[in-house]
Amino acid sequence: MSQYVLGSKSLKELEGVNASLIKVVKRAIELTAQDFSVHDGIRTIEEQKKLVERGASKTMNSRHLSGNAVDLVPFINGRLRWEWEPIYIIADAMRSAANEIDIPLRWGGCWDVTFTDTDAPPEDLVEDYVARRRGAGKRAFIDGPHFELPRSERFP
Ligand SMILES: [Zn+2]
Repeated sequence: MSQYVLGSKSLKELEGVNASLIKVVKRAIELTAQDFSVHDGIRTIEEQKKLVERGASKTMNSRHLSGNAVDLVPFINGRLRWEWEPIYIIADAMRSAANEIDIPLRWGGCWDVTFTDTDAPPEDLVEDYVARRRGAGKRAFIDGPHFELPRSERFP
């Protein structure tokens, strides 16, 4: 059991997010060995437009718009840190939490596989994803803090 809890800012960001995804995040903060903050939950069209313009997002069809995605950023020494090593620890906790409560999850570190369908280490999944994209002559856009519910009838 970790010593971490979601702060008030994180809880605020979770407002409007799909209840299943909230359950996963709340279980993940109990399991994780790395503290994190919910940096982004639901977004407005305007917010998404700005992110796409800046190159911080690649799509106007983001799962954030429908409340089916969250961004979880490592919280280290009082600061948010976009660093891969702690991100992998959070990804592990999110996958364990999702599997425990039987919620399928996609992760921005490997967009083309369902994260909860594999038990490969997150760092290997990122490496393989980048290699697959390059092999297909494409750029790999990886977004380690991003987790989303897959598009399905269950999560429209
Ligand atoms: Zn995101």
